[in-house]
Order: sequence, then structure tokens, then C-alpha cells
Amino acid sequence: MKLHDKTFVPYLSEATILKAVAKVARAVAEDYKEEIPIFIGVLNGSFMFVADFLKAYQHPCEVSFVKLSSYQGLTSTGIVETLLDLPENVEGRSVIILEDIIDTGRTLKELVYLFANKNVKEFKIASLFYKASVYNGEYTIDYFGLEIPDKFIVGYGLDYNELGRNLREVYQLNNNQMINLVLFGKPGAGKGTQAEFLKEKYNLKHISTGDVFRYNMKNDTELGKLAKSYIDRGDLVPDEVTIKMLQEEVEKNPEASGFIFDGFPRTAAQAKALDFFLAEKSMKINATIALEANDEVLIQRLLERGEVSGRTDDQDEDKIRNRFEEYNQKTAPLKKFYEDQGKFHSVNGIGAIDEITHRLAKVIEEL
Ligand code: AMP
Repeated sequence: MKLHDKTFVPYLSEATILKAVAKVARAVAEDYKEEIPIFIGVLNGSFMFVADFLKAYQHPCEVSFVKLSSYQGLTSTGIVETLLDLPENVEGRSVIILEDIIDTGRTLKELVYLFANKNVKEFKIASLFYKASVYNGEYTIDYFGLEIPDKFIVGYGLDYNELGRNLREVYQLNNNQMINLVLFGKPGAGKGTQAEFLKEKYNLKHISTGDVFRYNMKNDTELGKLAKSYIDRGDLVPDEVTIKMLQEEVEKNPEASGFIFDGFPRTAAQAKALDFFLAEKSMKINATIALEANDEVLIQRLLERGEVSGRTDDQDEDKIRNRFEEYNQKTAPLKKFYEDQGKFHSVNGIGAIDEITHRLAKVIEEL
């Protein structure tokens, strides 16, 4: 099944879901059938769960809703905004939150905060789905229907860019076919040149952070102005700027069948942010491939490139050496980061362009 540009495959049948809903309703009834609890659904995702839950919960109860909007900020902290606030009458009552899904726990934190000064009698959390492997564990999940792995799911109230909420079953994103590569190596190693060939050969979207910065500098955008002073000195642009820009580039291409990341990540914080960001989309890096060449060859290449392209950071040997210094200090340690994940591959970056493409293709085809 297709929603927007993405393909989804069946994951949980309607019967499985309804069984999980009934399980939650039974467990809650066991604890609350002697009083009148208030169930609070968290919009938008929980509307179907709330409806079926109430049909399964045939004891006196009240129901209301809150609406929170979760934004993914520059880092994993996230900001959650309240769009529809609490009902008035919660004081002294037993409140049971009905959530469609608990994953990282960010929304939950905001909910707990919302109820902090309301003097409720009891505050419990019931979720239909529960991603135990990514949950931060801050609060007890009192009731849940089904524990699920960290997959991107839609249907039964959950959406992909607002589509899919009306599906009776739950589907999971099918991106088994996706190939995401990091091209790794010092300035001048040939990442950009090789990416041009690989993107054609494997139908991938090439994202070069250096190119995006240069495009912005040329067009004198805010981002370009900000990046210019760093780039002119051969320093790295600050992580929060670069990470946000990279995420936007990925999100501009939801239809891509894979990405080549060229010049990103360049710091440990960028590498971690990339993994986190991709995981949220049920994507991952398949391989990081380093193009190896020694400094003297690279300096020669960069100075020649500087003459042709006019790139000022390629024309001055001191700036080039500073970029190598930045690389050695901040980027080189990422080799271990990807080795530890079993994803690091190394290719000799010296030779004819097509020979090097061939070496890269061999690594990719063996993935
Ligand atoms: P490149 O074209 O990849 O050599 O990048 C040119 C310049 O853009 C670098 O020297 C940095 O100043 C900046 N830049 C590119 N990618 C990044 C990144 N991932 N993190 C920080 N700065 C970057």
C-alpha cells in the first residue's frame, strides 16, 4: 500500500489490534470499575483506540481529550506544544491517559507535566502500542496492549504525514530496499566525484553538505551568511546548523530510494544525530565507505581544483591544512563509530576515476 511516496506492508490485523484493546480495557476495569475514572485521549493518534477502548469498557466513566504537537528540534530533546488543554474537572479524580503509542516518551513527559498541579487522585498511563526498546523509562507504563519493535507504523489512528489514520489495520514502512551510504574521507578524496557516478548507478539522492552551504552562500541566504565565516577559515560549521540543514535536505526527498551522504557526518554529534534521525524514519546507514589517499596527493588535487572551481578554501595551503586538522581531530574518530557498528569499509582512493568507482561498487554490491 502506498501513502504519499512510501510503501507500507501489513503488520497487525484488525483482530490482533482489537484483542490488544480488549486486554487494556479488561485490565483497567479490574482496577477502576468501582469508581468513575476520567479517560483522557491524546489527539490525534488515539481517537480510534479511545473509541474501541470505550466500547470494550462497559462501566461508568467519563472521557475527554488533550492535543499535543510534537516537534523534532535540532537535537533529540524535542519540544511539545499543548494545542487543546485539559478539562476542568480532574481534581480528586482518577485520570487514565489513553495513548495510541509510547515510543521515546517525550510526549508522555509533557502529559505528566500538564497534570502535575491538578491534584488528581491517581494518574495512570494506558497505551495501545509500546516501543519498549526506545522508551526512556522515565515513567511507569501502567497498561499496554502490545509491545512492538521500533518500526515506523501507520493505521488505526496513526499517520504518515496525515495519511493512513483511517486504516483498520496497522501497516509498517517497507524500506528494505533502501540503500543509505556515507562517503567518508578527507577534503579532496573524491567523495563528490564518486557520488556523481554512484547516484546514477544506484538511483540515489546525493546530499553534499559543502554544496548546500556553497549554494546558500552564493544566494546570500541567512544560512549562507552564517556558514561563510567558518568555511572561509576552513573550520567546520557548528553542528546544530549543519544537522538541521541535513535533516531538511533528507525531508525534501521523501521519495528517494536511498541517499549518499557526502561530507556528513563530520563530528561525533553529527553521526549520532544522523542515526537517531534516520531511525525515526525506520531508515539506517547501510555502509560508510572511506576513500583513502595521503595528504600530499590531496593537497595537490585541492590546489588544482581551486584553480578551476574558484573555491577560495581550495586555493590556500594554510586553509587546506586547517581543514585536514579539523578532519583529524573531529572526523577521523568516526571511523571507530562506524567500525563498532560493523559498517566501515575502506577503498583505495588513488587511481583512475572509473577504477575507484568500480572499487566502491564492489563494496556496495556485497552489502
Ligand atoms: P566540503 O565541500 O565537503 O569540503 O565542505 C566545505 C566546507 O563546508 C567545510 O570546510 C566546512 O566548513 C563546511 N562543511 C561541510 N560539511 C560540513 C559538516 N558536515 N559539518 C560542518 N561543516 C561542514
